Amino acid sequence: MGKYFIKALIFCILFFSVCGVIGLQEDFFVPEKAEPVTEPVTEPEPEPVPEIVFSETELLPGDCFAIYLKGLTERDDIQVSTAFVQGQPRFFSFMEGRLAVVGTSCRTKEGDYSCKVQVLRDGVTAAEKEETFKVHHKEFVEQHLTVTSTQKEQRSDDNFDMDKVHTERAKSVTSEKPLWEGTFVKPVEGRVSTEFGMIRYINKEESGRHSGIDIAAARGTPVKAANNGVVRLAMMLKVTGNTIIIDHGCNIYSSYAHLDKLLVEEGAEVKKGDIIGEVGSTGFSTGPHLHWSTTIGTLYINPESLTESDPLAFIR
Ligand SMILES: [Zn+2]
Repeated sequence: MGKYFIKALIFCILFFSVCGVIGLQEDFFVPEKAEPVTEPVTEPEPEPVPEIVFSETELLPGDCFAIYLKGLTERDDIQVSTAFVQGQPRFFSFMEGRLAVVGTSCRTKEGDYSCKVQVLRDGVTAAEKEETFKVHHKEFVEQHLTVTSTQKEQRSDDNFDMDKVHTERAKSVTSEKPLWEGTFVKPVEGRVSTEFGMIRYINKEESGRHSGIDIAAARGTPVKAANNGVVRLAMMLKVTGNTIIIDHGCNIYSSYAHLDKLLVEEGAEVKKGDIIGEVGSTGFSTGPHLHWSTTIGTLYINPESLTESDPLAFIR
């Protein structure tokens, strides 16, 4: 009995040892029994497809328009090629896209102009849009002024150059987002005595185009900010007298010249309609009036195009 018990015991020990070894090695020999390894499959995010929109394609010389792009990545470059816009427009982040407000000069000849916008992604064209812009004819009248030699001296090249140092400094800073809201308001109610782009002769000599509009008003009439923005300049200049420049964001500026009084300081934030100064006749001026101009960067555009429509209306 004891002999059988020992034999059975040895058999059992051997049997379980062998089973144990096989069990330990099972993972190596029977891989198909292994739990399937489920790697989380990460689908690459689909690349956004760029979308290019123009606010309008029919313009008058001196009007502005906007280019808006959506679906861009950090790696994208925007190229604009057209014969009727000087240089590359500046793009700013706006909502989920990029925005540029583009101005045209009062000297733009009537005609059809092609405008192509390309999005280059890693150097390869990811999207492009080409449109024909129609610039309509606009009659610019001539104005003849006769002034005294002292008044004429005030418009000397030296004086213009000295003023330019200040105005260019003011226009070298802009808010990265639009500060304006809706259409611009006329800073002063009154008759427009000199229109934008008017060809001006002073003492029978052509003195260039009128960069803004002149609004006739009595000395001391309150002058309103045309829209929300930040005051970038408020000082006495040689040609434009007491001058204020407001930055409305995205490279759009408005300026107010020949003021009798400056009622804001540089750096002040203003709201549309805030009183910023008073009408006067300082600098080169033949009588109290407000010279009101608007620029995209340093390019003068017709201020009335901003009172008629908001360049962002097509997005907002
Ligand atoms: Zn003027």
